[in-house]
Order: sequence, then structure tokens, then C-alpha cells
Amino acid sequence: MISDPTAALGSALRLHVATQHLPVSDIVETRILLETWAAARAKPDAPELDLAATLLGEMDAVERVAWTADDFLALDIRFHLALADAAGNAVVSAMMGSLRESIQGYTARFTANLPDWDATASRLQAEHREILAAIRNDDGARAATLVAAHIEGYYREGGVGRPAEG
Ligand SMILES: [Zn+2]
Repeated sequence: MISDPTAALGSALRLHVATQHLPVSDIVETRILLETWAAARAKPDAPELDLAATLLGEMDAVERVAWTADDFLALDIRFHLALADAAGNAVVSAMMGSLRESIQGYTARFTANLPDWDATASRLQAEHREILAAIRNDDGARAATLVAAHIEGYYREGGVGRPAEG
């Protein structure tokens, strides 16, 4: 018997994902599917939201000391995983976890296309704060709309020559 089915599922999905070159547009669509669902259902008092808030503070610190975009994006994906965890669905959490490296990969590659990283980072942070505030205010519909716009906006800005579908 497997004592921790979530961990086993996570490894299986990661293995599967790692063996494929996934199209960025498919990763983005799947993120939106999972993250809007999670944002709509996250409980305003979920403990994972405290971690999400802490990560926002760390991203602000990255901006101030001018660490690299990669440092920022490593925290950014952890913020999104924390929000997904706040929905309390172990399978959705495992699926998001399995996409972690793929997401970090494309978001880091896109920085080469951005004219002004600091401006982008400030905008992403403002959007993160709005998403978190909507969940805290128990406005799941708004949180879901905001998180979709956040993911699509970065995809449009950084994915030069890759028009977003839909
Ligand atoms: Zn983000």
C-alpha cells in the first residue's frame, strides 16, 4: 500500500510532464483551468494564504535589492501554488505541483522579451495583491477573473509571436 497517495500522484505526474516538451500555450490554458477553479474555491481563512502573503513580501524585497528575475519568478510560482493549496483539493495541488518546473521555465524564458523587467515585476505584484485581497474578501468570482487576467497578461506580454488563444 502507498501511505501517501498525494505524493505518489505528484511524482507520477511530474515524471509524465518531465518526459514531454509541453507547448507553452497548453501549460497556460491548464494553469488558467486549475488556478481559476482554485481561486474561486479558496477559503478566506485558509492558512495557506498566510504563506502567500509572506511570499509577496519576499518578492517586494527581491525588487528592492535587484535580485534577478529568476529569483522573483521562483517566489511567484510558490505564491501560485499556495493559492492553489488554499482550495483544499489534494489532486489539484498535485497537478499544480507537477507543472511547477514547466511554469518556471516559460516564465523565465519570457523575461528576455520584456522591455522593462522592473515595471513588469511591479505590475505582477499589484495583481498578486488584488488576487489575494479578493480571496480574503470571500469574492471567489473576482479572484478567479483576476488570476486569469494575471496569467494571460504575462503570456501576452512575454510571449512575443505567440498570440494567446481564446
Ligand atoms: Zn504571479
